[in-house]
Amino acid sequence: MSEKPKHHVSDLAVFGGNPYFDAPLHVGRPYIPDREKVLKRINEAMDGRRLTNNGPLVQEFERRIADYIPVRNCIATCNGTVALELAIRALDLSGNVVIPSFTFIATAHALQWLGSRPLFCDIDRNSHTLDPAAAERRIDSETTGIIGVHTWGRTCDTKKLTRLAARHEIGLLFDASHAFGCSHGGILTGCFGAAEVFSFHATKFLQSFEGGAVVTNDDDLADRIRLMRDFGFSGTDHVVSIGTNGKMTEISAAMGLTSFEAMEDTIDSNEKNYLLYREGLETIRGIRLNTYPPKEKNNYQFVTALIEDVFPLPRDDLMNILHRENIKVRRYFYPGCHRSEPYVSMPEYAGLSLPETDYVSGRILVFPTGPETTTESIHKIIELLEFLSAHGRDVERRIESTELAQA
Ligand SMILES: *Cc1c(COP(=O)(O)O)cnc(C)c1O
Repeated sequence: MSEKPKHHVSDLAVFGGNPYFDAPLHVGRPYIPDREKVLKRINEAMDGRRLTNNGPLVQEFERRIADYIPVRNCIATCNGTVALELAIRALDLSGNVVIPSFTFIATAHALQWLGSRPLFCDIDRNSHTLDPAAAERRIDSETTGIIGVHTWGRTCDTKKLTRLAARHEIGLLFDASHAFGCSHGGILTGCFGAAEVFSFHATKFLQSFEGGAVVTNDDDLADRIRLMRDFGFSGTDHVVSIGTNGKMTEISAAMGLTSFEAMEDTIDSNEKNYLLYREGLETIRGIRLNTYPPKEKNNYQFVTALIEDVFPLPRDDLMNILHRENIKVRRYFYPGCHRSEPYVSMPEYAGLSLPETDYVSGRILVFPTGPETTTESIHKIIELLEFLSAHGRDVERRIESTELAQA
């Protein structure tokens, strides 16, 4: 066993020691709920030769999601990105659309893919969600909508954004990819704005291999999206509009349903993990864990922290040290969409200054969690962070001298 505590700086794997963990601990490691149940459902689908095209499992999945929220319509899709594209197109967000730069690149790409233009906007430093005042300043005469992102399952300021969108008579969509099962004012996500979009990608806590959904209380919008999802077919050989192929397969729905049934247990494990991190990180100066609003529901699928300037190691050095110890922390969403291609090279974004996005994306780390992450491994991660907090200056000096020697 190499899993020994670190007593000296030279015990760290970056300086030649053995990694603290034998096997890598990943962020977003897919969780398989009940394998037998998944396989049973898949076998039934294969026996009945219903593999896709709005089959019984997809319909059941949509019903369960819609009933849970509750919301009038759920349209399941092949992934979250296509769900975003369907919603953007059905809502005719065809001009400029205000979005946070601090989001997964798919939020921006979905717009760009459809020929709309993302207007990157800054976030609130505490909630990591769209800053409504900044969003208002970003709205111009070509703006057709706003897409808010419920980052880490913390909902946007839906009240202010709803008022803002109404005042400017523009559309409002939410990318709720992180936020299934999360509430705002006691109401679960899925009911805010004109529509909300979920992702059920394998790395999300509720997963269907690949998958997503648009949910909405607007029946006409739902009808348009259903048509678009299936090439615009309204009958067997009757095409009424342009469409794409956004359908979810029965295999995905089999996993999605089983994952949905395990959801409360998954959330309990995630919350337990989050609380272990919280307790451990409380005494470490300069590692600021994300908080969740009390009294609101969350799925706790993300444990994120800002590595602040008082911590003795800069974020990227800390990340590299942890990676070598087999703790595969991630820096979502560094460096922000506006600093990623193709946007960073486009003249219209030159000189765009988003200081809060830079601050957060420059300091964020996402830690491993999920139902298979053990209490022991979280304790060990905390122990290592305590060690690095105490010996960070020595570590940093040593890194610098190694870099000098290599230069
Ligand atoms: C995962 C995710 C998406 C994309 O969903 P896919 O199902 O992977 O296409 C979009 N936005 C955010 C914020 C996400 O986290």
